[in-house]
Amino acid sequence: MITAIYPGTFDPITNGHIDIALRSARLFHRVIIGVYAFPKKEVMFSLEERVHLAREAVKSCANITVEPYGDLTVEFARKVGAQVMVRGLRVSGDFEWEFDMAMMNRRLNPELEMVCFMASPQFQFLSSSILKEVARLRGNINDLVPAHVINALAEKQKPAGTG
Ligand code: ADP
Repeated sequence: MITAIYPGTFDPITNGHIDIALRSARLFHRVIIGVYAFPKKEVMFSLEERVHLAREAVKSCANITVEPYGDLTVEFARKVGAQVMVRGLRVSGDFEWEFDMAMMNRRLNPELEMVCFMASPQFQFLSSSILKEVARLRGNINDLVPAHVINALAEKQKPAGTG
């Protein structure tokens, strides 16, 4: 039985992430989306919110689960018994970063194999940060995230006190 982790910040989960998770779930018996608790970048959604949005997004796929984690990704992989770590590649910039990370992770845990999926063409340009910017400016994000994420983004935009 092959278990893969798909780690990331998921602030929030997008259709690009979901595409990678679903494609992974066709290759591996079990896929665990790992939502990282302490990203260096500033986040819009709390850890609980990021986990909740990701869970909603993949609830119809029986072999995908979502778990928060706060330690090294290789440690998370060890704890859940994963042999594979999945990442998505959009443009060449992603590759350089992912390659460096993969080399470091290999040093830390040579047993963990990294598998990268090429982003699907329709999501090549899609990142959580660009998505948040377009949402802030009230652009159309219908094809980029599920409806519950659109609602969550809209909630964040409401001025404080308007509930
Ligand atoms: P991180 O902060 O670890 O990069 P992200 O949530 O931004 O976390 O992304 C998690 C993973 O998903 C990364 O491997 C990233 O390259 C990949 N990814 C992000 N957006 C897309 C997309 N649109 N298509 C394919 N892969 C993506």
